[in-house]
Amino acid sequence: MIVLGIESSCDETGLALYDTERGLLSHALHSQIAMHQEYGGVVPELASRDHIRRALPLLQEVLSQAKLDKHQIDAIAYTQGPGLAGALLVGASVACGLAMALDKPIVGIHHLEGHLLSPLLASQPPQFPFIALLVSGGHTQLMRVDGVGRYQLLGETLDDAAGEAFDKSAKLLGLSYPGGPAISRMAEFGDPAAYKFPRPMLHSKDLNFSFSGLKTAVLTVVKNQPANICEQDKANIARGFVDALVDVLVAKSITALKENGLKRLVIAGGVGANQQLRTALNAAAAKRRYQVYYPELEFCTDNGAMIAFAGAMRLQQNPALATRDYGFNVRPRWPLHELQT
Ligand code: ATP
Ligand code: MG
Ligand code: FE
Repeated sequence: MIVLGIESSCDETGLALYDTERGLLSHALHSQIAMHQEYGGVVPELASRDHIRRALPLLQEVLSQAKLDKHQIDAIAYTQGPGLAGALLVGASVACGLAMALDKPIVGIHHLEGHLLSPLLASQPPQFPFIALLVSGGHTQLMRVDGVGRYQLLGETLDDAAGEAFDKSAKLLGLSYPGGPAISRMAEFGDPAAYKFPRPMLHSKDLNFSFSGLKTAVLTVVKNQPANICEQDKANIARGFVDALVDVLVAKSITALKENGLKRLVIAGGVGANQQLRTALNAAAAKRRYQVYYPELEFCTDNGAMIAFAGAMRLQQNPALATRDYGFNVRPRWPLHELQT
């Protein structure tokens, strides 16, 4: 079965073709980061309009990469939510229009399920069950995953997501949107002893997180710097911030593994691309003989491959999910636990 995946929940238009026999056939992505950069964040209306411009050329690209004709697609999976309503509507309408024209079924996919399953696209995929640490721009969650569609939320952030904390702290340091990758590059040459930031909820008895206090601590330090703050000082602040955030993510992930008696940890979402987090998780896991799995770097942030893959997994498990009801509706707010299995 060949599934076309369409992702358009935020500022990336991603398309991909996944074959349940042969694996990922092709994928193509257009990121709107450069377009939104001058506004310091994603402008929803601009995002929607750009998805419209990009979707069909990207479709041609994935078809020609895979040397397939559009009639060879068996089903179309699209991101139904959560995300920006207008942006989601573009992907959904492209999916439904195309499916109607080709007389193929569609399936709406939960964006976080896409992230959650993205490590399974790697060459050495993890076996179920595992603990997943989902760290993206909008979410920070620990989940127990027993199979496709079998997700149990163990804990989540009570305020800012990890990616959001990265982006906001980077902005305070004058780095442009999205600052996650930039602040982590900067942290590489920072002095770890220069600033000790709080580790919010590190010792709380649950698996929840809170990152807004950490961002405020960065703000306080930045405010007290001279206007001509030097690069080394910025790097020191970046380092203090990254170390604090990483400490909390690692500690809670290890606790989740212990409490569930599991040995496999899977990382998903954009912050999973972070090198400091990877290094710290690998060290903590090696000490306890746990295994850590990551998505390929290009599949950490939003992409069409994870949606095509999640669609294929879902349809294999439950073919009845495929519908020819093309009256689509998107779900900008959609808690993962409301997902039907
Ligand atoms: P959600 O999936 O929750 O709706 P999203 O789709 O915007 O949010 P992703 O695309 O998974 O999130 O990830 C984007 C986030 O990842 C941004 O906040 C970005 O700064 C962060 N990020 C990407 N690369 C890195 C990195 N190397 N280090 C730290 N953060 C990073
Ligand atoms: Mg994005
Ligand atoms: Fe995402």
